[in-house]
Amino acid sequence: MNSSASADILYDAIVVGAGPSGCSTALFLARAGHQVLLLDKARLPREKVCGDAVSGKSIGVLRELDLLSQLTKPAHGVINGLMMVAPSGKEVRVPFPNARDLDCAGYCLRRQSTDSILQQAAKSEPTITLIENFAVRSLERDAQGNVCGVSGCDADRATAAPPLNHERTYRARVLVGADGSGSVIARSLSLPPVPPEHTFMAIRGYWSGVAGLSDHIELFFIDQVLPGYLWVFPMGDGTANVGLGILVSDVKKRSKHPNKVLTDAIAQHPQLAARFSNAKLEGSIGAWTIPNGSYVRASSGPGWVLVGDAASLVDPFSGEGVGNALSSGRLAAQAIDAALGKEAGDAPLSASALAHYTSSVESLLRPEMQTSYKLQQASRSKFLLNLFIGKAASKPAFRQMIIDMLGSDEKKEQVADPLFYLKLLLP
Ligand SMILES: Cc1cc2nc3c(=O)[nH]c(=O)nc-3n(C[C@H](O)[C@H](O)[C@H](O)COP(=O)(O)OP(=O)(O)OC[C@H]3O[C@@H](n4cnc5c(N)ncnc54)[C@H](O)[C@@H]3O)c2cc1C
Repeated sequence: MNSSASADILYDAIVVGAGPSGCSTALFLARAGHQVLLLDKARLPREKVCGDAVSGKSIGVLRELDLLSQLTKPAHGVINGLMMVAPSGKEVRVPFPNARDLDCAGYCLRRQSTDSILQQAAKSEPTITLIENFAVRSLERDAQGNVCGVSGCDADRATAAPPLNHERTYRARVLVGADGSGSVIARSLSLPPVPPEHTFMAIRGYWSGVAGLSDHIELFFIDQVLPGYLWVFPMGDGTANVGLGILVSDVKKRSKHPNKVLTDAIAQHPQLAARFSNAKLEGSIGAWTIPNGSYVRASSGPGWVLVGDAASLVDPFSGEGVGNALSSGRLAAQAIDAALGKEAGDAPLSASALAHYTSSVESLLRPEMQTSYKLQQASRSKFLLNLFIGKAASKPAFRQMIIDMLGSDEKKEQVADPLFYLKLLLP
């Protein structure tokens, strides 16, 4: 804990959660000259259940934060393409476009490493006060009902009775909920939970000794998880991150536990079984939920904003959330910086000033998530997936169209065009 943390200080912003969304918000705010209190219930660095893929979108924000060169210091896998395997077993490989200024498209590195880079950067900012092991439990409100701070206690004493469980309160002009899926801040604001049809239940483990890993991330569209998929991501340290995601609304309808679906698939799938015959699970399989951007959650109000998973901003097709976590943090910081410039005094920032953040999310992040939702819905159909991947495998022109779609948001929108499906059906 930074010793300057105090209940008497009125911070410009309190950010709850030091994951990618919280660190991004805090860093952009600090670099604009603001005083930030960053709280996390974990002792850092902490583990995070994730697929560990760092895509072009994340790389763009990490470059802006001047942290890109640090990404390749820990063990990492280099990503240059995508392999997709249809339910029929047909497979296709497509190259990814390089990320700007890089000679590859992205990386896979353990989230503990990625997040640690962000957390160390936050720790070295003079205007960020970082408190670890502090669990936020409730919101503070002013006489008008505007959010003006938080209360909580040491996370490792949260179940103890007072005086050991000593509650502390901190105040700020704006509260940023960056506390991930299952956000306590969203719950305390009485926002409805993200519905099960917009949430993936996802699991992952690390396997060593997997044969045939390359610089391609691998997606296997297997029957039991559609419209989700099973992934194999190369970590560059002799292990693969292997996992799958199933919509929460489907989990109950399917009789097998997701861990069993995963272990059965790697033991039996024709394109996986041989590759995993000498593989070993290192540690245990972890699980967490992924709130998708196909659901629109309120993201700002009087004295508060939500970013990252707390705002339900994960790509509904790929399950990629770090990019939008970092991007939403940057957008929130821009809106808060402008609001602090406009509204002097001690009062919580107004809902109308913070609504600029919500408008930015809707205009800059939502369209891609809506397109991805259409892709997710289409990939519930085994027939369409077999046709799509089969055609990409056999027709270079169709494969090129996918490569173009991977590089451009406008081209991705073709999935909403009936002509796209006509092209798919034509030989
Ligand atoms: C299995 C799985 C695979 C995934 N694969 C990928 C992938 O390959 N690539 C990708 O881009 N995304 C992936 N995602 C999504 C990605 O992990 C999230 O979108 C991302 O972590 C969101 O970042 P965040 O900062 O919003 O939240 P988080 O990373 O969850 O951080 C939230 C932080 O808030 C803290 N916190 C929570 N509650 C409190 C509290 N009450 N008080 C104080 N602190 C609190 C937590 O300790 C945590 O540090 C995957 C997710 C899962 C579950």
